[in-house]
Amino acid sequence: MKTIIKKNSIKLKFKLCNWNASYFLIKLNRMENNKKKGLLLIMSGPSGVGKGTVREKLMEDKSLNLFYSVSMTTRNMRPGEVNGREYYFVTKEDFMKQVADDNLLEWAEYVGNCYGTPRDKVEAMRNEGKNVLLEIDVKGAENVFKKVPDVVSIFIAPPSVEELRNRLRGRGTESEEVINNRVNAAAKELEYKALYKHVVINDKLEDAVEEIRQIIKRGM
Ligand code: 5GP
Repeated sequence: MKTIIKKNSIKLKFKLCNWNASYFLIKLNRMENNKKKGLLLIMSGPSGVGKGTVREKLMEDKSLNLFYSVSMTTRNMRPGEVNGREYYFVTKEDFMKQVADDNLLEWAEYVGNCYGTPRDKVEAMRNEGKNVLLEIDVKGAENVFKKVPDVVSIFIAPPSVEELRNRLRGRGTESEEVINNRVNAAAKELEYKALYKHVVINDKLEDAVEEIRQIIKRGM
């Protein structure tokens, strides 16, 4: 009799243990499904406006849970750039294959080179709850606005076009001809700023970074 009771009590304990485990797994699954999808942030602005520096500063703030989407480009690598860090540097042929296979969320041609955002990586990061930052040109951004709802879009503007030219010269990475092309492109890009939810003037770096930090926090 005693052994039967003991056996039954062990069986019951085992069942309870199983139920607990199942309950825990269901809860975990629900938590995974309920995980808030990360934000999609788009930051645009003319070449030389300081997007890269603003991005680096924002990424230092871990409370923003911000992850940068590395784009693909056909432009030449600049000194100090690393393949897979600043960009995935590819041939025009490889780039067009990615376009044909519909692997890019958006892409655009900018001053003679192609740039695009790998779709899968962005989605995977957002599904993990990460806030993803795209640093893309105005035409690419316009395409994303049509496809993705609730994009947090920020246009970074220079205090003036002349200041932009000075900053590009100061960078010392482009020829005078390329600088002229980029300044001409900037004038056109500024016309797109009305499409963005937020326009931030990068006069003082720290102020611009703080303004964007607050925009992101409000969206989280
Ligand atoms: P840069 O050659 O100075 O690195 O970039 C030139 C321009 O291309 C910048 O305005 C930059 O934001 C934009 N850009 C970089 N990656 C992408 C991308 O994936 N898609 C689009 N549409 N533009 C990009």
